[in-house]
Amino acid sequence: MSYLKVFFLSFFLVATISSVSAQEGKKLVLTAEQSSGGKIIDLSGGKKAVTMDKSCEASSAKKGDTFIEWKLQEPLPAGWYHGIVEFCTKEGEEKSWFNNHLGVSLVTAQQTISVNIMENFQSRKDEPQLFEFWIYSPFPTTVARITPVYDDLWKYKRTYPVAQLSLEQVSQPSLDASKVASIGLEMKPDGTANLPCSLPPGLWMLKSPLTKDCTVTYEGEDGKSFQANYPFDQWKRPGSVYFFMGSLLKKLTFKTPAMSKIAELQHSISREQKEPLLADVELMKVIDISKTESGQLELIGSGLTGDAPSFPLLPMGEKTAVLTSWDDGKPDDLRCAEILNRLGYRPTFFLNNDNPAMKFLDKLEGMNGEIGSHCYHHPSLYRLTPERAAEECVSMRKVLEKALNHPVISFSYPNGYSASYDVEGDYVLKAVKAAGYWSCRTTPGYVTTVDTLGDLMTMKTDGFFGNEKDLDKKWEETRAKDGGIFHFWGHSWQIGKTDEQWKKFENFCAKFANCPDAWYASQGELSIWLWLRNNIKMEVTEKTPAKVAVKISRPWIHPYLSAKRPISLKVPDGVTKVVWQGNELPVSNGFVELKW
Ligand SMILES: [Zn+2]
Repeated sequence: MSYLKVFFLSFFLVATISSVSAQEGKKLVLTAEQSSGGKIIDLSGGKKAVTMDKSCEASSAKKGDTFIEWKLQEPLPAGWYHGIVEFCTKEGEEKSWFNNHLGVSLVTAQQTISVNIMENFQSRKDEPQLFEFWIYSPFPTTVARITPVYDDLWKYKRTYPVAQLSLEQVSQPSLDASKVASIGLEMKPDGTANLPCSLPPGLWMLKSPLTKDCTVTYEGEDGKSFQANYPFDQWKRPGSVYFFMGSLLKKLTFKTPAMSKIAELQHSISREQKEPLLADVELMKVIDISKTESGQLELIGSGLTGDAPSFPLLPMGEKTAVLTSWDDGKPDDLRCAEILNRLGYRPTFFLNNDNPAMKFLDKLEGMNGEIGSHCYHHPSLYRLTPERAAEECVSMRKVLEKALNHPVISFSYPNGYSASYDVEGDYVLKAVKAAGYWSCRTTPGYVTTVDTLGDLMTMKTDGFFGNEKDLDKKWEETRAKDGGIFHFWGHSWQIGKTDEQWKKFENFCAKFANCPDAWYASQGELSIWLWLRNNIKMEVTEKTPAKVAVKISRPWIHPYLSAKRPISLKVPDGVTKVVWQGNELPVSNGFVELKW
């Protein structure tokens, strides 16, 4: 761009912005041509639009500096603004375009306030496509931006180009649960926030640049309030708190040793609850704690002390459990399952209702694959209302149980797990528990063992299969512990298109395969094993130095699950023969496995 053009543009911007005053009804229109940072493209009829792609990176110091930007010559006064982003499609390509992964930000000297287009945009068939939002800034705005959510601008090649962004100052926003809004907050010294008005019910996200542990209390107009801890990730970076307000949000209080001066609240669209899916289908009953089943185990030998058998950490006393899981049910799951099965793995495949793999469930199970749920659609559960989150979890379990005719107990969170709170606590966890899952997988965590696994509803993996070096290290760390769990995950479509890439994948999987003291298990098998360890009771009913009789009891469990994972026990020293329900069991290295 020439200096002359920059000068002219600046002049034009000044002219535009000087027409904006604090009074209502005046709209600041920022056109594609006035922007910088993006790539300006020509549309038919001499119209222009602005978009982002790889070429925009060249003009930035670093990837994160790439955005479409309007520098305002005169700051916009603090207050509420009604904003509209007008998108347009590229001619001839309307069908393949969607809006994705963008945000709108107002930049002030103190903070940047953003609305998220990605999760709020509803594309409409008629052009132009408009994204409407309300934004409140407690400070004067100097720059308006359209920002990418991801660093990798390759992802933006199918994003709608922007024709213009308009901002109109309003004294009161028109808000309800179905509207998008962001509010910049200036915190008071007592830890409460200055809300510019009562804020609408629905889905909210709080972002605050805190550096220390903090409890946030949310108070509603209905008198109900709830608290949530402000989360930090494994690198101690502050995250976001997601929550759902059942009534107007009246007050926000921070209790923290590190007071934040500013915070940001983002409100997302709470879409209407649709009719429940598969309302006429019941979830399968998998456990009945009111029914106890028991059997008789006899230990025969010499010099017996009368001890009952004990549970090893892992079946047959193996040192390490090895798990792998694959999300999104793509056609390549078949090839992936074939390789993993051949290497002795028992992979878990997590599916959504519309996945191609729904057509070959029997083939995946035939290759020692377990089928688990990845929700009906592929939502971020923490961005749904409590009702819809529950519905997503239940309906996919129903779909799979109907198709498979046996219980489905394993789950993986689409887009990972984050808590989201309402007056009853974390409703994401509540949704997966209520749907009856036994374990829920999320994304990377840390090395775990059977004894340090934590909540099975947020089971972390060791990492993505593509991070080979990281997994090699995790493998070594896991192998150093007894009862360690090694778990890698991926999407089969990421393995590659060429035979060479598939061979590379096979070599990668072979590194952790056929380990003599490892137990290769599906996610469901691991959770059944942990359930057995917690729920089996053993009672010695007879003891002599030559024979010990043990009554083994457990609650009723669905026969399919019971058969999936036999009970593995370590027998006491001196035992030479083990009889279960009248049948002799083979003893291997001091361990027996009994099938109910
Ligand atoms: Zn997924």
